[in-house]
Amino acid sequence: MYYGGIETGGTKMICAVGDGDGNIMGRVKIPTGMPDNTIPEMIDFFKTWDIKALGIGSFGPLDLKKNSVTYGQILNTPKEGWDGCDLVGQFERALGVPVALDTDVNVAILGEVKYGAAKGCESAIYITVGTGIGVGVFVSDRLLHGLTHPESGHILVERNPRDNFAGCCKCHRNCLEGLASGVALEKRYGVKAEKLYDREDVWELESDYLASAITNYILAYSPEKIVLWGGVMHQEKIFDMIREKAKKLLGGYITSPVFDNMADYIVKPGLGDDSGIVGACELAKMGV
Ligand code: ADP
Ligand code: ZN
Repeated sequence: MYYGGIETGGTKMICAVGDGDGNIMGRVKIPTGMPDNTIPEMIDFFKTWDIKALGIGSFGPLDLKKNSVTYGQILNTPKEGWDGCDLVGQFERALGVPVALDTDVNVAILGEVKYGAAKGCESAIYITVGTGIGVGVFVSDRLLHGLTHPESGHILVERNPRDNFAGCCKCHRNCLEGLASGVALEKRYGVKAEKLYDREDVWELESDYLASAITNYILAYSPEKIVLWGGVMHQEKIFDMIREKAKKLLGGYITSPVFDNMADYIVKPGLGDDSGIVGACELAKMGV
């Protein structure tokens, strides 16, 4: 039995087919152009497989309310051409199988909870620190939705007194994404984040921001495991800095044996860069 999975991205679409057991049997990467060209190419790939259902993890914002007239669409995205794109409807009509949709980060934590570093957890979060910052939230054995879907990359964090950068989020300026994303690093220092690898001050500040956000996530979501990844986290030295600072910021208020071994609490993904597509295939399986 095969299940399709899609991870949409600003530059590429990853289409994959899974066996329903966490293994990927085939995949293609398709450059993200305009929907009218890109979606038919994606559909052609899935038509070569006998899939039972399709799961999509997408950049947002998304309408995930099943009773809404715009359910299944990408809403109000800055990605040119994709505003109002009916993801669920187009794939359902073309492939004739049930299609399930969630955010890219929600499917990533689903993949990690089922087959990766958070395997067996009832509550866990996936944080990506890349071009932007996104957080997928799995609580009490289900992906968290609400009024819309969580957007915890945009939580407001206290500006560090030694940081003169105004922040770059178009909506909030100095939210976490506005202060600590890859784009924020590039705008603050004038060079790509990867070029800043030997600047100790940069990673002190970055780990301060990420640790305080993570402390807030621990307090709010009570995760049993925190999976942390994305381009900026390729600076792996900041894992330990974040672990140490988060533990300090918790101030002993919550006690749990997991805090005795922070290296096993705030971790890299077990599925590497495949958390999203493995999770998308799993979403398809759950939807059937
Ligand atoms: P996206 O978020 O677009 O899916 P990535 O997770 O790869 O993509 O994140 C891209 C961001 O990560 C860019 O801002 C880039 O500058 C930054 N980045 C990539 N590699 C590194 C690195 N080795 N060290 C620090 N930042 C990096
Ligand atoms: Zn913001």
